Amino acid sequence: MTQTIQPVYNFNAGPSALPAAVLEKAQKELINFRGTGMSVMELSHRSKPYEEVHNQVIERLKKLYSIPENYEVLFIQGGASLQFSMVPMNFLQTGKKAGYVMTGVWSEKAFAEAERLGDAYQVASTETDKHNHIPNPNELNYNEDDAYLHITTNNTIYGTQWKDYPDTGNVPLIADMSSDIMSKPIDVSKFALIYAGAQKNLGPSGVTVVIIRKDLLEKANPDNPTILKYATHAKNNSLYHTPPTFGIYMLGEVLGWIEECGGLEAVTQRNEEKAKLIYDVIDNSDGFYRGHAELESRSLMNITFRLADEALEKKFLAEAKDAGFVGLNGHRSVGGCRASAYNAVPVEACKALSEFMIQFQQSNH
Ligand SMILES: *Cc1c(COP(=O)(O)O)cnc(C)c1O
Repeated sequence: MTQTIQPVYNFNAGPSALPAAVLEKAQKELINFRGTGMSVMELSHRSKPYEEVHNQVIERLKKLYSIPENYEVLFIQGGASLQFSMVPMNFLQTGKKAGYVMTGVWSEKAFAEAERLGDAYQVASTETDKHNHIPNPNELNYNEDDAYLHITTNNTIYGTQWKDYPDTGNVPLIADMSSDIMSKPIDVSKFALIYAGAQKNLGPSGVTVVIIRKDLLEKANPDNPTILKYATHAKNNSLYHTPPTFGIYMLGEVLGWIEECGGLEAVTQRNEEKAKLIYDVIDNSDGFYRGHAELESRSLMNITFRLADEALEKKFLAEAKDAGFVGLNGHRSVGGCRASAYNAVPVEACKALSEFMIQFQQSNH
């Protein structure tokens, strides 16, 4: 039986679009993985063919981000949300404080866990402005002897993104990059630890990528449960226990796809082009569409906007849905509309959305 499926434009916030080429390759390899006669999911995580996959993913991450030698790349389960706890469990020792920059819902969640586990304080907050901008990275008032400073590089729900990162000197900078990891080149050496759940820009859910400076491993609290120590995962090449093997394989394929696209520079260019298509419609709409984020803080990943009132937003979302656009409703905590244009979202999808938005304005103004 043949099924005709209406083409969809996937703007989901996470889990989100994966490159079509990656899905097709995974499908081809699904049953007989590279001559093993088994699926990659059926391989032992101690077998040579799996270890090759695993190590290639680490190599690809290192190469794409030019990760210096003094860093480890780890795969951990539990999502970015476990990192909210694991970071303070490991690094928020008694006597020291940790500073959190509050730029949205995810920073709040990270801060709440740190407060439970140690002495955490808010360095800055954009809450009174409905998190519509990013604070100036050079005007953050944290203490020079803090255990670390925590930032959320892209605020998935509010649609803001750090363009420059603070130079924190001796204070370790820790970043939740869940929603903009691998969307542009960064200077990894500015960070002591980067973490990201894979399901927005990197692959399926189930894998969290952690990039950690090696000297931090020794500074961590030794009393943590074994599985919650970064050192456990580092010592064992993230094979201390069974890793999410299929997710890691998919992550590797997504990274291979980024390489084929021309690397991170090419990916940034494409992301800028994609976001511009939609922001231009907002900016040229005479206020019909109202962007949530201030211009300088706009995210290239999550484009948030509102219409005149909730009734019109409802109509917009319903008609967009009928036209094949998926995932355009804003997060339940803030409402409005949001288009998530992660790496894997094609330019054509953004073009189609921009055209739909123009048409909708013409028939509803
Ligand atoms: C989605 C998201 C999270 C939560 O990730 P989980 O893997 O579901 O725990 C945390 N931080 C940011 C910035 C996110 O976008």
